[in-house]
Amino acid sequence: MYCNHCGKEIDEMSIVCNFCGVPTGRPNPAAASSAGVSSKDPNEPARGGFIALAIFVPVAGVALAIMNFIDGKKRAGKTYLITAIVSAAVTVTLCVTVYLLLMFYLLTGF
Ligand SMILES: [Zn+2]
Repeated sequence: MYCNHCGKEIDEMSIVCNFCGVPTGRPNPAAASSAGVSSKDPNEPARGGFIALAIFVPVAGVALAIMNFIDGKKRAGKTYLITAIVSAAVTVTLCVTVYLLLMFYLLTGF
């Protein structure tokens, strides 16, 4: 094939022209797959971690509260229960805030 930019003959498998370095338009499988991963969502792992934490903390708090109530440690149980409720409330508030901000962002086209 011939380069679109300089017109010189280049290898069919070339991704870029050997002479001028301009991309030939041939899809590069490696670049395409890595671009697909990076363009998917760079915040995905962080968000997954946040969701795991948001679920884990209240659940762990409730579990610890129940364990303490069973052991007869009502005071400690109550503390864990309050921690679980507060962390759940904070998580819900954060999620709602982020959602509202996102909606605002999308609606205003900022
Ligand atoms: Zn060229």
